[in-house]
Amino acid sequence: MIANSLLENDKAHWIHPVASWRDHEARGATILRSGKGTYLTDIDGHELLDGFAGLWCVNVGYGQDSIVAAATEQMSRLPYATGYFHFGSEPAIELATKLAQRAPGDLDHVFFSLGGSDAVDSVVRFIRYYYNITGRPQKKHMIALERGYHGSSSTGSGLTGLPAFHAGFDVPTPVQHHISCPYPYRFEGDDAALIASSVAELKAKVEELGAENVAAFFCEPVVGSGGVIVPPKGWLSAMQAACRELDILFCIDEVITGFGRTGPLFACEHEGLTPDFMTTAKGLTSGYAPMGALFMSDRIYRTIADATPPGVSIGHGMTYSGHPVSAAIGLEVLRLYEEGGLLANGVASGAHLAKGLEALRDHPLVGDVRSQGLLAGVELVTDKVAKTRPTAQMKLPQHLADIGYRNGVVFRAFGDGIVGFAPPLCITTDEVDLMLERFRKSLDELL
Ligand code: PLP
Repeated sequence: MIANSLLENDKAHWIHPVASWRDHEARGATILRSGKGTYLTDIDGHELLDGFAGLWCVNVGYGQDSIVAAATEQMSRLPYATGYFHFGSEPAIELATKLAQRAPGDLDHVFFSLGGSDAVDSVVRFIRYYYNITGRPQKKHMIALERGYHGSSSTGSGLTGLPAFHAGFDVPTPVQHHISCPYPYRFEGDDAALIASSVAELKAKVEELGAENVAAFFCEPVVGSGGVIVPPKGWLSAMQAACRELDILFCIDEVITGFGRTGPLFACEHEGLTPDFMTTAKGLTSGYAPMGALFMSDRIYRTIADATPPGVSIGHGMTYSGHPVSAAIGLEVLRLYEEGGLLANGVASGAHLAKGLEALRDHPLVGDVRSQGLLAGVELVTDKVAKTRPTAQMKLPQHLADIGYRNGVVFRAFGDGIVGFAPPLCITTDEVDLMLERFRKSLDELL
């Protein structure tokens, strides 16, 4: 009864993010009630293994009491303190310090946002400010990847390279451009050829626009929402080298890949590189409260600070930048990754997941599997040789996700027949086996 009226009220009043409104009116929400470790329970008491960590964010898993205690303590002591006008709070300063210490190279400066979209927007605003104040105001164009996702706010959605986020929205794209996503499964040639092709495409795009007009290149270390596409090893470093050569800034979006998702704390550590800007969110607070953080290199920070006269405010910020409760949560989450052993567990379970995914290759519907740490994609095809994608009419990934739900596992259905996994880092190897067993059972039901 309660569930029924909740469902009706939901359909009537809540506009859900990234959903078909018409489908939602027909089906309503899947209402979740509680979580513990890697498991979720829905309103009907159905237990589910969460193979997607909420929305690839609950990296520490559900029900971590020490996080609840840290948040409660901060809420009762000081629930809010602004970061505006030179105010601050202890947890926000402590978190900025710890993040800067753990970030690669000279990414010594942290700006807090509310999530990933406004972290990306903030980077774009700071880049404009940087070029304007250093006398190169014509450097406005930004280049990103097709299939990349950088949020759905008005600026980030333009960098996003997914048609659903542009169609019908009049996204202001004149200064935002896209080059091909490095997609090993669908590229004719080896890894070296794919890297060379991406570099050549970036250079050609910059030449077309004029290097003096191009500000930056943005990419995810692993393309997430575009289908969990893992570029070849060396791709990121080659793109950074090209950006340096072209005199454009290199910005990495680690909103998904940050905080242990691919193994190390940040995915750019795989290649030992330091971008000019890095955006994070999700695993920063593990979804226990909203928060994002952008990291700015010392070189850019110093340039902006020195070029702006004392007394002149740099006009960018949000009421909840550096929210003390989110910051207190972030501090405890960071402790759980490192002292609590979650990063190490994620590495071990990620290696186990990679092996389990390989075993799926014999399934008649599986064209490709790919992963880095606990971030994985399975690409379904209707013909393995021709790599034929399921038609949209088959609604295959969503239909499969519904079957999976019935079989007690949550994963994410993307377009183009791609399924994504990103379980919490606390997942055990036995739970990885169970997740894949339930997934295979669900796949078999499609045959
Ligand atoms: N950047 C990437 C790579 C993302 O995956 C996302 C969200 O999934 C965002 C940015 C936007 O983050 P948010 O949804 O927190 O605004």
